[in-house]
Amino acid sequence: MGARSVSPTPHPFQPRLAPSTMDASPDKSPLPTICIVDDDAFIVNVITLMIARMGDFALRGFTDAVAAFAAISAGEARPDLIILDINMPGMDGMTFFRNLAGIGYRGAIVLSSGESESLLRAGEQLAASYGLRLLGRIPKPPAFELLRDMIRAYRPEAAAFERPARRLPSAAELAHGIDHGEIDCVYQPKVDMRTGALLGVEALARWNHPDDGVIGPAVFAQLAESHGLITRLTHNVLDRALGQQARWQREGLGIKMSVNVSAQDISEIDFPEYVTAVAERLGVDPASVVLEITESGLARDARIPIEVMARLRMRRFHLSVDDFGNGYSTLLKLRDFSFDELKVDQAFVHGAGDNERHAVIFRASADIGRSLGMSLVAEGVETASDWRFARDLGCDIAQGFYVARPLPAADLAAWLVGWRSRVENGEIELAH
Ligand code: C2E
Ligand code: MG
Ligand code: MG
Repeated sequence: MGARSVSPTPHPFQPRLAPSTMDASPDKSPLPTICIVDDDAFIVNVITLMIARMGDFALRGFTDAVAAFAAISAGEARPDLIILDINMPGMDGMTFFRNLAGIGYRGAIVLSSGESESLLRAGEQLAASYGLRLLGRIPKPPAFELLRDMIRAYRPEAAAFERPARRLPSAAELAHGIDHGEIDCVYQPKVDMRTGALLGVEALARWNHPDDGVIGPAVFAQLAESHGLITRLTHNVLDRALGQQARWQREGLGIKMSVNVSAQDISEIDFPEYVTAVAERLGVDPASVVLEITESGLARDARIPIEVMARLRMRRFHLSVDDFGNGYSTLLKLRDFSFDELKVDQAFVHGAGDNERHAVIFRASADIGRSLGMSLVAEGVETASDWRFARDLGCDIAQGFYVARPLPAADLAAWLVGWRSRVENGEIELAH
């Protein structure tokens, strides 16, 4: 599909590679590639024809999102730009975003959809949360000028992929990686919004893949969940994180350690025994360990998790509801079970000052947490204005890029020196 000849007029994209002086044959010329993914073949055709009129692009149309993603992840299609429908059978636009993020897609995306404004906005926010580059959206049927202007305004920064043809790792590789010490943790500070004191850190897993480099949990946590590897992953992370906490403790830095546990972990009846044994072996006080459970994990209705959580509390571990505001049935869980901490999902924290809908959910979540006597954590505090907004809502603890990015353990001390000076010189506006 599409024009494949070299045009003498400059096209709106920067070429990804300088044309070879040895072989300037048109077929080898690196034309910018655009993939159109829409289950409606008519729309694929219309957009294809429109783009063919705009300049020289290598175009590929897909009416099957699963096949499109397979081609992209296998490196068989290497788009600089993907024009993506949101509502598709098999794999919808949201899943497509997550999968693209998982393979480190660096190109751009244009949303094409006839969906409602709120759904489109949700799609845009989701793409942003994955760090994907969204150029904008076009309606259905597509508008030529809009699409042309979007494409003209766009310049790819670099090659579309960090590494050519990066594929999704397999479950077998993950199992191997877990057992061979390839899972490491970075630590993100949680600070007191009143005093600026460092209260604790959250351990965030990273997979140091021997060939593919560092892989984030957005890719492998899901893989672990769906292949029965999560228990091994959690055990691994607990060991590392609590070991690090004990090391900091010995160095005179007594802080809390937060560890993410999955719904499957708290469905294992012997999980409390396991965590207790790790804490004992490493000499860590359970009251200084916070187990973060995501809201979606709590949605499951089962007795075992309640029993497990109750036992963890009896052993004095602290429990936190993570990503609050993102799920649906948590309110019932909060009624049935008491948690120590509530973490408002970053989706509602970052930019709350400019988005009334987010602000409403943030405020309501803060009210719930406070009324139930929970410690309130704002995560995703990225800017000074996020910090002020969270502070004014009465959040106790802040976590986010404004305070610190997740750090290797060895960098925490240096970060703390810098943070303390930001607090002392008044840059950080503490709550009164
Ligand atoms: P989470 O527990 O909600 O962790 C916070 C995530 O937000 C982290 O992403 C962190 O890097 C990111 N973050 C923190 N501050 C900011 C900010 O200001 N702006 C933005 N845009 N992002 C911020 P990360 O490390 O990619 O982890 C993603 C999720 O993966 C975690 O979300 C958690 O649910 C899961 N996860 C991480 N480690 C583990 C683990 O050891 N076990 C399990 N089961 N899940 C894990
Ligand atoms: Mg967490
Ligand atoms: Mg969270």
